[in-house]
Amino acid sequence: MKHSFERPRREPRVATNWPIRRRDWRWRLNPYIWALSGLDRPVTVTLDLSRTQASAAPAPAINLSGLTRSELAAALIAAEVVRPDKARMRAGQLWRWIHHYGLTDFEPMTDIAKETRAALAERFVLTRPEVVERQVSRDGTRKWLIRMGPGIEVETVYIPDVGRAGALCVSSQVGCTLNCTFCHTGTQALVRNLTAAEIVAQVQVARDDLEEWPSPKEDRRLSNIVFMGMGEPLYNLDHVASAIDIIADGEGIAISRRRITVSTSGVVPELTALGERTQAMLAISLHATRDELRDDLVPLNRKYPIAELMAGVRAYPGLSNARRVTFEYVMLKGVNDTPADALALVKLMKGVPAKINLIPFNPWPGSIYECSDWGAIEAFAAILNRAGYASPIRTPRGRDILAACGQLKSESEKQRASARRKPAPETPAPETPAAG
Ligand code: SAH
Ligand code: SF4
Repeated sequence: MKHSFERPRREPRVATNWPIRRRDWRWRLNPYIWALSGLDRPVTVTLDLSRTQASAAPAPAINLSGLTRSELAAALIAAEVVRPDKARMRAGQLWRWIHHYGLTDFEPMTDIAKETRAALAERFVLTRPEVVERQVSRDGTRKWLIRMGPGIEVETVYIPDVGRAGALCVSSQVGCTLNCTFCHTGTQALVRNLTAAEIVAQVQVARDDLEEWPSPKEDRRLSNIVFMGMGEPLYNLDHVASAIDIIADGEGIAISRRRITVSTSGVVPELTALGERTQAMLAISLHATRDELRDDLVPLNRKYPIAELMAGVRAYPGLSNARRVTFEYVMLKGVNDTPADALALVKLMKGVPAKINLIPFNPWPGSIYECSDWGAIEAFAAILNRAGYASPIRTPRGRDILAACGQLKSESEKQRASARRKPAPETPAPETPAAG
């Protein structure tokens, strides 16, 4: 990009509270940095710095631990910690310390000069978000309530599998806009999308707790990631895709894209973009084979009905017998659990490389459904197996700590709900208590 001094001069957009040092070399810098800084090419400006330096509050230090590689390099350049021509190399060094070794401090980064480490520590942090609560279930499931900011709390769950392996169920949003009638998160309004850094932080917090740094090559406890926590990942695809880039990077956390599954309730227009941008495995929350019933269980079906959804799935990039789509099917007593439903499911799957996950419904306080009887679930699974579909019944995990699928709800929301239920002192109890 070539900047010309002939252009008409615009008033430089200089924030008066930006502490600028007189000999700041940003004023003489190359166009790349100017593009990053959002400022026009400098003209001669005289700034009265006496006031601004005294009154300016220090800008909050940037956290490097959730940036993509290119963001990391750009942040180092913008903070003048490295020369632009050295930024990639330096970012690569930092990357290994942050994502392979899990460091939260610059001091132990021995291949970086002491002065550079000091400069980094002056401008940046590598801190984790606060873990507000940690619960461990009798079956080894772990759940963390993580505070990303005031009122922004998400739950992340580690579900151990056979052997040492295990999956981390991460959240992509706080709350959800889609009100699936069997889902606890669906009762909570969307608070906001999580950033890529906040998604990656969930993995880092889990790795800290599992003491799994540096990233082991094999025999990992945290072997898989599933986007099956709070929220609809395809309504936050930009951040989900960046988070996957960070998590899957081979010189860092290095969880391969084939071990990362993104679950969606069926946001059909984003399916191709998901496949192309992330190469992640796809899971579809199907739960019903008829539009009439799915409209009720997953209201998004009214927008993208089953036939459109199935067409979108068939077109998912990279789908093959080795990379099958998973259909999730929650077993609801008397709603979707008859042998006829199982046969309809087999028919619907025809020609699609698929696995089916039967999820026993996890009840939550106030839910209107019951879990199907065990016999009904087994009979359902037997029909799928006879048709050639591996259909594991997902054993409910972490029930004692409400950590199972669809039971996640942020603590802030639980407190708001419980405050609504609890009458304030000296206030008469409402006749019909508000739902939770
Ligand atoms: N929004 C995405 C991902 C989060 S939900 C989606 O809907 O796919 C993750 C999975 O948990 C989905 O398959 C969802 O249907 C399922 N689920 C939600 N509530 C549940 C409950 N109470 N019992 C069992 N599974 C549930
Ligand atoms: Fe949202 Fe998924 Fe829950 Fe539906 S099942 S309300 S899409 S989190």
